[in-house]
Amino acid sequence: MALKAIIVIFILTITCQTVLASTGTHWSYGVNNAGPKKWPELFPNMCAGMYQSPINIQPSDTVYNQRLTNFGFFYSPAERANCIAHNNGHSIQVDIEGQSLLAYGGLQYRYRISQIHFHWGSSDDKGSEHKINEEAAPMEMHIVSWNVGKYSSMAEAVTKPDGLAVLGILFRVSYYDNPLLEPLVQVIPSIRNPEWNSKAEIPFVSASALLPNSPEKYYRYHGSLTTPRCYESVTWTVFKERQTISEKQLNVFRQTLVPHTTKAEPIPHSPESIGRINGEGLEPLVNNFRPVQPLNGRLIQRSYQILDVV
Ligand SMILES: [Zn+2]
Repeated sequence: MALKAIIVIFILTITCQTVLASTGTHWSYGVNNAGPKKWPELFPNMCAGMYQSPINIQPSDTVYNQRLTNFGFFYSPAERANCIAHNNGHSIQVDIEGQSLLAYGGLQYRYRISQIHFHWGSSDDKGSEHKINEEAAPMEMHIVSWNVGKYSSMAEAVTKPDGLAVLGILFRVSYYDNPLLEPLVQVIPSIRNPEWNSKAEIPFVSASALLPNSPEKYYRYHGSLTTPRCYESVTWTVFKERQTISEKQLNVFRQTLVPHTTKAEPIPHSPESIGRINGEGLEPLVNNFRPVQPLNGRLIQRSYQILDVV
């Protein structure tokens, strides 16, 4: 009997190792062997590239480009399907079903919006990936789309220089809840634990509604995915103005959980019950942002003519 048990454990171990190997190299946001500083070693041909993201945007160093017009968003009414929210292990992600298209805004092709996800901090002085004037925001939202005019799938587009277009929207803390985020915030408690593998349907999310005030004002540069494998396939748009989120809503995002390996900074106001309810192996997912990367000579464009007087 004992021998049988050992054989079963051995087979299980092999199976688990195979699964781990097939899912690729592990990475995290922690100060550990898998954290952002180690990504260039772990993914040398990609995360060690010259044109990486995120970056700090210095508005006074940007150049005006009159071709950076307003964006157009197109939806097929018949396909206003629900959106699926889940914890992907690094962020809260909303998969957009159906045909949501993004065009114009200086883009040469039409792009299909596939998902929206977020980066946030353990406190309000950090959390965004991009910085403007060296200043971080407490949260950044990424609306991810792929070039449907040229490629047949996200998988095909993700490695191509013109494959992806990502809209980056920074947040500021408001006294009021943001009603646009509320349907997602409501379901986060049911998906926050990665061990539950749970998904939640939320009503259709219109990407255009999520843009901040003055959506015609934005910055444009060419960069990369901000997570491994860091492909330099992203036409980035970072909006000048910010969306809003309340502290209460931010704290719901901060209760998302990840396995312990990330060594993320614990948050001071996390419920004491987290460890008891979810076991010892999990901790809050916070500070899931990559530090800013060198520009290496890249010129950042802006869509608006007159720089604000600082
Ligand atoms: Zn992102």
